[in-house]
Amino acid sequence: MEPITLSYPPVAVLMLVGPSGAGKSTFAATHFLPTEVLASDEFRARVADDASAQHVTEDAFALLHFTLDLRLKHRRFTVVDSTALKPSARAQIVETANKRYVPVYALVLDVPLDECVRRDARRTDRTVGEKVIARQYVTFEQARRELQKDKSLAGVQVLTPETVHHAQIVRGASAVSGNRFDIIGDVHGCYTELCDLLNDLRYEWGEKDGLPRHPEGRLPVFVGDLADRGPDSTAVLKLACRLVAAGLALFAPGNHDDKLFRFLKGGNVTRTHGLDRTIAQWDALPEAERNTLTTDILTYLATAPTHLVLDDGKLVVAHAGIRDEWIGQHHASVKSFTLYGDVRGFEPGTNKPVRHDWASEYTGPAFIAYGHTPSPVLEWQTDDATGRRYVRLPIVNGTVNLDTGCVFGGALTALRYPEHELYSVPARAVYAEHEGLPYSLTEGFQTPEQGVY
Ligand code: GDP
Ligand code: MG
Repeated sequence: MEPITLSYPPVAVLMLVGPSGAGKSTFAATHFLPTEVLASDEFRARVADDASAQHVTEDAFALLHFTLDLRLKHRRFTVVDSTALKPSARAQIVETANKRYVPVYALVLDVPLDECVRRDARRTDRTVGEKVIARQYVTFEQARRELQKDKSLAGVQVLTPETVHHAQIVRGASAVSGNRFDIIGDVHGCYTELCDLLNDLRYEWGEKDGLPRHPEGRLPVFVGDLADRGPDSTAVLKLACRLVAAGLALFAPGNHDDKLFRFLKGGNVTRTHGLDRTIAQWDALPEAERNTLTTDILTYLATAPTHLVLDDGKLVVAHAGIRDEWIGQHHASVKSFTLYGDVRGFEPGTNKPVRHDWASEYTGPAFIAYGHTPSPVLEWQTDDATGRRYVRLPIVNGTVNLDTGCVFGGALTALRYPEHELYSVPARAVYAEHEGLPYSLTEGFQTPEQGVY
C-alpha cells in the first residue's frame, strides 16, 4: 500500500478524534515528540494522580487548555489527544487555537466498536470497559458526520485500522505538493536584487498583500543564508517570513540563518561575519515590528527542516549540500552538514574550516541544489532566444551550487526547476569584501567535465 501523507503547516493543532481504544495515544506516540502531545488522561493524572478520574475532567481540561495556549504562544506544533467526541469539546480547542491564529486539523481514528472493545480488554494499564466505549461510540458516529462539514477546521482526515500503519506525517515546508520551483541562491540581505530576480522570473506583486506570486503557481525556494553582510537583511527576512507563512515559498536554513535563530532565542553568539550588520538593521526597527518579526522568524523559518525533499524525492535543496544516505533524515550530523558542508577540520593558524568537496563524490539519484560557497568566477551568458541573462554554473554529479556571491558584488541566481534554466541578476553594488573577490566579470570560465548550464 502507498504511504498516506498527512501534511500540516509548521505551527498547527492536530486534534485526534476517536473513542477509547481507537489508538489515539499509540498514534501520537508513534509520530510526535512526547512534549508535543497533550493527552487528557495525563492531565487527569496531573491534577488527581489518576488517569481515569472522571470527576476531575473539568480541571484536567482547564490545565490542558492553559498548556495548549502557551504552546501556541510559542508557536509549537501541538497534538491534542482526547476523545474530542462532543462538539463543545472540539469547539473549545478551536477557540484556544483561534486566539493564537493557529489552524486546527482533525484526525479521526475510525475503528469499529468491537475492535475498540477488544483492544480495551487487552490493555494492561487500565480498562475503560465495554459499556463506556459503546456509549462513546454513539457520539463518535455523530461526530464523524459533523466533522465533514465543520468549517472551523483547516482539514479533516480519517484513518482506519487498515490505513493507520501507512500514515506518514509531513510538517512544514516539505508539505508542498507542487513540483515547479525557482530555487534562489544565498541572498544575504540583498533585498533589491531579490526583487530584481523575482521580476525577471515573472513574479507579480499582489496589489492587496504586496507578495510576489507566479502566474503559473511556481514557488520560490530559498537555499538559505537570507541575512547578514548585505544592505537590507530585515526586509529579506520579512518577505521570506510572509511568503513562507502564506505557503508561497519554501526555505531551507543556512548557517547564517541558524546563528540568527540562536540570537533571537537569546543565545550567546559572536556578532561576526555580517551578523553585526543585521543586528544594527534590527535595532533600527520600531519595537513592535521587531517583536513581530522575531515571532515570525521563529515560527516560519526556524521551524524549517534541515533540507527540503521535493518533487517526490527527485529534488533536494540543502544549504551546504547533503550526503545521499542522509536525505530525509534530520539528526545532528545532517544538520551540521547541511549548514556548514563537509567540514574536515580547521586550518592551523587561520582556523578557517577545511571544506571537503562533497559534490565530487555524490552519486545519488536526487538532483541537489545548494549554496553556501560563492563561485570564484562568474561567466555571464545571454540566452539568444529570450534575452534571459544568467551566470553559467557547473553541474557536478547532479548537483549545482547557486551561490554566485551577490553580496560580494557578484550576482543573485535562481534555478528554474524542472526546466533547469538559470536566471541571474547582477549585484547593484559590492556590499561586502571577500578574499579574492570582487569578481572579475570578464574572466574566462573553465569548462567543467560533468556538464554545464
Ligand atoms: P486510545 O484510547 O485511543 O488512546 O487508544 P490507545 O492508543 O491507548 O490504544 C488502546 C490499545 O489498543 C492499546 O493497548 C494499544 O496497544 C492498542 N492499539 C493501538 N493501536 C493499535 C493498532 O493499530 N492495532 C492493534 N491491534 N492494537 C492497537
Ligand atoms: Mg489514549
